[in-house]
Amino acid sequence: MTAAQATTAEPAPTCQGCGAALSRTLVDLGEQPLANSYIPLGREAEPEPVFPLHVRVCDSCLLVQVDSVVPPETIFDEGYAYYSSFSESWLTHCRLYAERMSERFGLGADSLVVEIASNDGYMLQYFVAAGIQVLGIEPAAGVADAAEAKGVPTIREFFGRGTAEKLAGEGRSADLLAAKNVLAHVPDINDFVAGIPTLLKPKGVFTVEFPHLLNLIRETQFDTIYHEHFTYLSLLAVDKIFARHGLTIFDVERLSTHGGSLRVFAARDEAGREVSARVGEVLKEERAAGLDRPEGYSGFEAKVRQVRADLLEFLERARIDGKRVAAYGAAAKGNTLLNYCGVTSDRIDYVVDRNPAKQQTLLPGSRIPVRDPSVLAEDWPDFLLILPWNIRDEIIAQNAAYREQGGRFVTAIPRLAIF
Ligand SMILES: [Zn+2]
Repeated sequence: MTAAQATTAEPAPTCQGCGAALSRTLVDLGEQPLANSYIPLGREAEPEPVFPLHVRVCDSCLLVQVDSVVPPETIFDEGYAYYSSFSESWLTHCRLYAERMSERFGLGADSLVVEIASNDGYMLQYFVAAGIQVLGIEPAAGVADAAEAKGVPTIREFFGRGTAEKLAGEGRSADLLAAKNVLAHVPDINDFVAGIPTLLKPKGVFTVEFPHLLNLIRETQFDTIYHEHFTYLSLLAVDKIFARHGLTIFDVERLSTHGGSLRVFAARDEAGREVSARVGEVLKEERAAGLDRPEGYSGFEAKVRQVRADLLEFLERARIDGKRVAAYGAAAKGNTLLNYCGVTSDRIDYVVDRNPAKQQTLLPGSRIPVRDPSVLAEDWPDFLLILPWNIRDEIIAQNAAYREQGGRFVTAIPRLAIF
């Protein structure tokens, strides 16, 4: 019996936020393998588990979420390694964050900065360099060891209410508590958020970054949906969850990362911080886009189907014209796109990726082989479909020679574009 069959007899799903029954679909992306389960060469014959990838909206609290049908230990198995591949631009983003937060909140040698999902200390290292005390919370032992080697003390745990109570009991409360792109990955969002006020000092600040649902909807970024992302967050929905646990949102910033993210600032209700006008501006924009009412989410699935139709038409036209198509960037989001569209290696010859860990593997589901980008020096496909569209400009700049010699880049999202 496959995992998918095992779930069909289960009762209707309930909201991960408020517990209400879920009846409204945002988009149903069908049965998909885990987006990060790249297949090593030599293991092609092994069966590939697939799970439903069905995104719903809660009519009651408006939390957008995928049915949680995958055991967490399956998700955070091999795929977790890919978390630690950081780009230069991301490290710059983190360094600037450390500088700005230190200045804004007056952090110094007596302050404690805690990061949840601190990985290899990629971000806390900048606070260490500034002489500020830090503590990382990171369940993956390998990267936690790497963090310790950099001078970032790290406890090896998943974060939740229990961890927060233990640390607070030891007197290790945070002046600044950071979570970058982890909230959407949390299987029990209430347990996670409940731990935040517990771990904060009375005037402590929590910052959390997440891809903004408003951009996902507007730009048809359905390929950012995969099983590892349990929730897709609007400020409206986050505000409801935070309020439930005694947290007040007092500021928000827009970031360009991951196709458009929010950085939300929150504190304990009793901290009494003044609320920035920016909070109201983002909430107003979300309301204007219909995110404050269940029916506002209709129409998204039709846009997703159009992306599929356009990509398949492009690939069919290329085949008829005798043109060859390869892809650039073996990103997880590419796997959602390719598998939803049913694209396999008979349409896309291979995908190139600079990450050696992904080379010599096949993409999950589509089974397109991953190769070193140096292959492009000898083999000139007519088109390169860029899968991680969020770093499109970086990829085009790195491959100027390909374009100068007549190669064309293609992106599928938000709509098919050739340039
Ligand atoms: Zn709900």
